[in-house]
Amino acid sequence: MGLRDGDGWVDCDCGFRHWGRFGAAGLLLVRRDTPQPQVLLQLRAEWTHGGGTWALPGGAKDSHEDSVTAALREAHEEMGIEESALTVKHIFSDNHGPWSYDTVIAHTMSDAGAHIANPESTETKWSSIEEVETLNLHPGLKQSWVALKPLTADSLKN
Ligand SMILES: [Zn+2]
Repeated sequence: MGLRDGDGWVDCDCGFRHWGRFGAAGLLLVRRDTPQPQVLLQLRAEWTHGGGTWALPGGAKDSHEDSVTAALREAHEEMGIEESALTVKHIFSDNHGPWSYDTVIAHTMSDAGAHIANPESTETKWSSIEEVETLNLHPGLKQSWVALKPLTADSLKN
């Protein structure tokens, strides 16, 4: 394992503190081998920041990582996602200036090996695109889903 130097808070221009000295990244994985496309969510453990809410796998980027590398590393650590099982389609950057959260939209034709792989989550779920907004979402995902929902739909058009 390489140097992990991304852990830490950033005091952002938006007035909030965000996790990840070099920003953060997450994976929005879309499963296409089911009758309807489904997206992968994890229920965050109660002891974590935003505990008890549904979120994407993700976390702080390290200084040497691009967003795809960080998102896939976090998705593997948290949910056992196999990089070889997915194809990256789009990156949505929620850019605050001093801090950004990049969401990597990727497709898979299997369950990609998804399971609870570390104590940060207590449940995993494949949810239809329409169902996502009905769930108790992590505040960060709730805010970005407005942009991510149409981008996810667009990614399925080809
Ligand atoms: Zn901010």
